[in-house]
Amino acid sequence: SSMLGMVGGGQLGRMFVHEAQALGFKVTVLEPEAGSPAAHAADAHIQAAYDDATALQKLAEACASFTTEFENVPASSLAKLAETGFVAPSAACVSIAQDRIEEKAFFTRCAPQTGILPAPHAVLRTAEDLEKVSADLFPGILKTARMGYDGKGQVRVKSMEELCTAFANLKGVVCVLEKMLPLAYEISVLVARGADGQAVVYPIAENVHRDGILFTTTVPSPHVSADAALKTQNAALKLIADINYVGVLCIEFFVLQDGSVVVNEMAPRPHNSGHYTIDACVTSQFAQQVRAMARLPLGDVRQHSPCVMLNILGDIWFDGDVVRQPAWDKVLALPSAHLHLYGKAEARRARKMGHITFIATSLEQAQDEMRQACVILGIAV
Ligand code: ATP
Ligand code: MG
Ligand code: MG
Repeated sequence: SSMLGMVGGGQLGRMFVHEAQALGFKVTVLEPEAGSPAAHAADAHIQAAYDDATALQKLAEACASFTTEFENVPASSLAKLAETGFVAPSAACVSIAQDRIEEKAFFTRCAPQTGILPAPHAVLRTAEDLEKVSADLFPGILKTARMGYDGKGQVRVKSMEELCTAFANLKGVVCVLEKMLPLAYEISVLVARGADGQAVVYPIAENVHRDGILFTTTVPSPHVSADAALKTQNAALKLIADINYVGVLCIEFFVLQDGSVVVNEMAPRPHNSGHYTIDACVTSQFAQQVRAMARLPLGDVRQHSPCVMLNILGDIWFDGDVVRQPAWDKVLALPSAHLHLYGKAEARRARKMGHITFIATSLEQAQDEMRQACVILGIAV
C-alpha cells in the first residue's frame, strides 16, 4: 500500500506528510483535533482519540505501515496496529521514552558500552521515597516521570523542604528528582535506523533553551569538541541498536562545565532540534522516517550548509492585547532565511507556530541573520 499511517496531528506530523508525499506516498492521520497542522496536509484524516478502537481498525485497514509524531501516544495503540502492520518505532521502544524512570534505567544499563550516564537521580513514587533522597541531589529538578515536555511538570527545588512541598503538590504523581548539573551547553544527536539494522547519525546539534522551550539550534555546534562529538554519536548508535529501534530517534545530552557528558532524555521521533535537516542536509529527518517505516534504504545525512534554526512561538503575534501578523516580508528579505509556518489556526503564547532556518555559506552569516530576524520580530536576542 502507498498509504502510510500517522498517529498524531501536530507540526511534526505535517512535516512528515510533506516529505512522504514528495516520496510518492499518501498519508492517513489519526488525530482527535479538527484542523490540526498534519490533518490539513494529509490525504485522509480519521478524527478520533488515539486509543479509539474503531478508528484504529479503520487506520489498520487503510495502511500497512505506521508511525507516530509525539511520544505520548498510547503504546497500546501502537501494539494494536502492530498486529496487522509494521510499526516504526515499536510500542516497546516508545514506552521506554514515555517514562523517565525506564529511560534512565535504559541509559544506565547501556553505560558500560556508551560511557555516558544520566544525571544522578532518585525515583519518587510515594512520600516514603522522600526519606531515602540523598542530600547531594540538591539543588535539584523535580520532573514528572511521564507526560512532561517543554519543561512542563518541572519544579526546581533547593532543599528537602521544597522537595516535600513540590512533591505533595503533585498529589501522587510519580516523579524523578534530578541533581541540577552545571551545564556548559546542550546538544542533541539525531540517529536513524532502518528495518535492516543499518543506522546513520547526523551531525551534532547545539541547542539553546529559553523558559524550558527550545529557542535555537545551531549546526555545526560552535562548542562541541571532536572528542565529545564522536563519543555522543557512537553512544547514539549503540543505544538505537540495543533496543532494535526502527525510525528516527533524537537523544539529548548535556555537556558539563568540566567537559564531561551526561545523557538527558530521548524522543522516539523526529525532533524540533532536527528541523535544520530539512534545509541543510541531503536527507531530512522526516524523509528518513518515511524511508525507515517503508523499509527503504536510509538517505545520506550529509549537511551541505551551516545552519541556525530559530523557533517561532505565538508570543510575537501579540502587541499587548492586539493580535497582528509578524513582519514576514522583512524576515524574508534576509537572504539566508527559510520560513516554515505550521498552519495553526490560532496563535497562543509559548505555542510553537513555526521555525526559520538560516542557511548560509558561513555559520557567522547564518547567526548574524538570525539575530537580525529576532530584532525584526521583537524577539530578545
Ligand atoms: P523537552 O522534551 O521539550 O526537551 P522536557 O520537559 O522533557 O523538555 P528536559 O529536557 O528534561 O525537559 O529539561 C528541559 C531543560 O531543562 C533542559 O534542556 C535543560 O536546559 C534543563 N535541565 C533539565 N534537567 C537538568 C539538570 N539535571 N541539570 C541542569 N539543567 C537541566
Ligand atoms: Mg522531554
Ligand atoms: Mg528535553
